[in-house]
Amino acid sequence: MVSESTVQSQRNIVILGGSYGGISTAHYLLRHVIPALPDRDSFRIILISASSQALCRQACPRALLSDNMFPQDKLFVNIPELFNQYPKGSFHFVHGTVTKLDTENRTVSISLKTQVDMTEKVEFHGVVIATGASTLSPLLGLNHDETILRKNWTTFRKALPNAKNIVVCGGGPSGIETAGELGEFLNGPTGWFKSKSPSRKVAITVITASSRILPALPTSGARKAEKFLADVGVTVMKNTRVTHVAPVEPGTDGVDSKVALTVDSGDTINADLYIPATGTKPNTDFIQKSLLTTDGRVHCSRTFRVDEAGSRVYAIGDVASCVKQPALHVLFKAIPILCANMKQDLLIADGEQRASTGEDRVFIEDNHVNQLVPIGKNKGVGAAMGYQLPSFLVWLVKGRDYWLWTTGPLWSGKQWAKES
Ligand SMILES: Cc1cc2nc3c(=O)[nH]c(=O)nc-3n(C[C@H](O)[C@H](O)[C@H](O)COP(=O)(O)OP(=O)(O)OC[C@H]3O[C@@H](n4cnc5c(N)ncnc54)[C@H](O)[C@@H]3O)c2cc1C
Repeated sequence: MVSESTVQSQRNIVILGGSYGGISTAHYLLRHVIPALPDRDSFRIILISASSQALCRQACPRALLSDNMFPQDKLFVNIPELFNQYPKGSFHFVHGTVTKLDTENRTVSISLKTQVDMTEKVEFHGVVIATGASTLSPLLGLNHDETILRKNWTTFRKALPNAKNIVVCGGGPSGIETAGELGEFLNGPTGWFKSKSPSRKVAITVITASSRILPALPTSGARKAEKFLADVGVTVMKNTRVTHVAPVEPGTDGVDSKVALTVDSGDTINADLYIPATGTKPNTDFIQKSLLTTDGRVHCSRTFRVDEAGSRVYAIGDVASCVKQPALHVLFKAIPILCANMKQDLLIADGEQRASTGEDRVFIEDNHVNQLVPIGKNKGVGAAMGYQLPSFLVWLVKGRDYWLWTTGPLWSGKQWAKES
């Protein structure tokens, strides 16, 4: 039976999703927006997240292999603890899955993780949708919560020693990073000055429908990546589209299932383990269709307002239609713009004249190629501001620990110490 309670609000600014977009928005609002409002004590930030832990998601291609790859207390951090620094009553965390965003009655319904079969309804004065996107493979992010992700990693790890043939589908960064990590882990590292790993114990194949891997990088970068992959026993199969995936043993469809893949030539490829890494699906099932674009993202303007949803409704991060690249450097430029526009809207709602709140800030995306793709722990390819980077720099910036070195100030909010 579902029981329902209603949290009576003062004025709730509700943020949906506790990852890069949601946590950054919460810190920024608590530091720079709420304190600037005339009746600041009447506002409360409510962050709702299916996972009570934030995850350095970029690290998943390596983290999925073993808990020894990263310090686990840095890889996962407890979300509510990050907000203990703010005045009592200004922040509230809800561990649950948002099941409905009702823009007419201005409420959000949540299925609570802490109390089985309990739903909660929260009224909002403003709402920010930051529910991101799920990967096809449940190994590559918090599609549900940290417990399920860890369970999937454990199942996959148990199956790894018996796998002789692994297929990764997708030639983008996630697919290439995952294949490179698997290759190095199972077939041995290449080292700084050594190419070719000593033996190839497991056949790892990347299947891509494209004529090349890493399409955002120059062709020479993609060729170099193929060479690094080959050194750890990874083969790339191009111009091949997987059209059907069937578990070999009926009744299994988990991360450890053997599968038969049908490809567009009609051939069948068998794999002991299979990882689909062909893009993401926006987490927007709880939002009415009229607010979504054809690809399922939330339709918003470059101010991050969801104009068709009424006043003070916003979207940020991978879920927002006005963002082309699902990448953190893009998201970080967007946070101050979203929050400046929210500040303006909150002041207007409190009776301030539009003329005195200033102009809207509009997001203009940087279209330079910024993509770093580690291939194992020592090698990598990439480009920054459109310029190709040597393997050493890719290792230094990302390959060492998959950006874990950057997450401390981000999760703690120090990254947003200054209003910008
Ligand atoms: C494998 C992988 C590697 C990546 N590597 C890089 C990289 O190296 N560099 C880079 O710049 N970008 C990288 N990205 C992209 C980057 O991770 C995303 O741009 C970023 O995570 C987007 O953050 P977000 O907050 O918008 O959404 P997400 O990180 O997707 O988070 C959404 C959050 O919302 C929660 N949620 C979802 N639905 C609900 C609901 N209904 N109710 C409550 N909570 C919900 C989820 O549990 C999750 O915590 C990578 C992505 C993947 C998948």
